[in-house]
Amino acid sequence: MEFEVTILGSNSAIPAHGRNQTSQLVSVGNSFLLIDCGEGTQIQLRKFKLKFGRIDFILISHLHGDHFYGLMGLISSFHLVKRERLLTIFGPSGLDEIITTQLKYTNTKLSFPLRFVPTQAEGKNLILEEPMFRVFTFPLQHRIPCTGFLIEEKPGLRNMVKEKLVKTKMPVEAIVSLREGKDVVDPDGKVLYRVEEYTYPPKQSKKYGYCSDTVFDPTLVNFINGVDLLYHEATFGDDETERAGTTFHSTSRQAGIIAMKANVGKLLLGHYSSRYKDLTPILDQAKEVFENTYLSEEGVTYSI
Ligand SMILES: [Zn+2]
Repeated sequence: MEFEVTILGSNSAIPAHGRNQTSQLVSVGNSFLLIDCGEGTQIQLRKFKLKFGRIDFILISHLHGDHFYGLMGLISSFHLVKRERLLTIFGPSGLDEIITTQLKYTNTKLSFPLRFVPTQAEGKNLILEEPMFRVFTFPLQHRIPCTGFLIEEKPGLRNMVKEKLVKTKMPVEAIVSLREGKDVVDPDGKVLYRVEEYTYPPKQSKKYGYCSDTVFDPTLVNFINGVDLLYHEATFGDDETERAGTTFHSTSRQAGIIAMKANVGKLLLGHYSSRYKDLTPILDQAKEVFENTYLSEEGVTYSI
């Protein structure tokens, strides 16, 4: 199954050095999820020739402008191209009011149904369950209520042990049952085929963790432990460690520490401060702690 993320915006606060504000497109199976929607996101989607109309879910982490000011323009464009399919937006409460007010005063009756689901910035919460994947929120420590997102594939079916399958004339229903992890029993309750004997586990399901914006917070490890890919904000370098703390942001080194503690596969940095044109020190400082670190670059797709 395809599971990857394309970066649409990598800068914090304002667009600078050719970098846009935060947004990412995650594709998982046949579904597309947009995470955050900074200004200009729809222009980035067009520029990188991404499947604009196939986005069914938009996840907004918090209500700072650099994470959602592109949303109204995107909704407006969906309307203008006469979208019909349902769009579901997850975000902090208040976002629904912002959208409704703009629709009201622009006298817009959308061509498509829009569903809003408020997120909670406390604890881990399942917000979306689809046949192939699940999405959870978890709390981030920022200046206003903010959540991270965890997207995980659902475990697939178990695989049959081929040699055993050849030897046994097993009915199809029994195979289906075993692959779903259920022993096959006869009407008297006697076990005919045991799951452990005839199958082996499915391949490990993949996970993507998204953390922007947040102060350095080791408790995050509880929510993103062992993810294959972690995106963690890295607004500042070592030179601004104090400022990172007072503005509730992180340095790239701190992102590296979180990645190391959580034993993730790969770390992707982003949400760069405009004060850094050259991002090499940001990358190097994180790599000193966690080697498998990359700078997120706009238009680039990272597999999960
Ligand atoms: Zn913010």
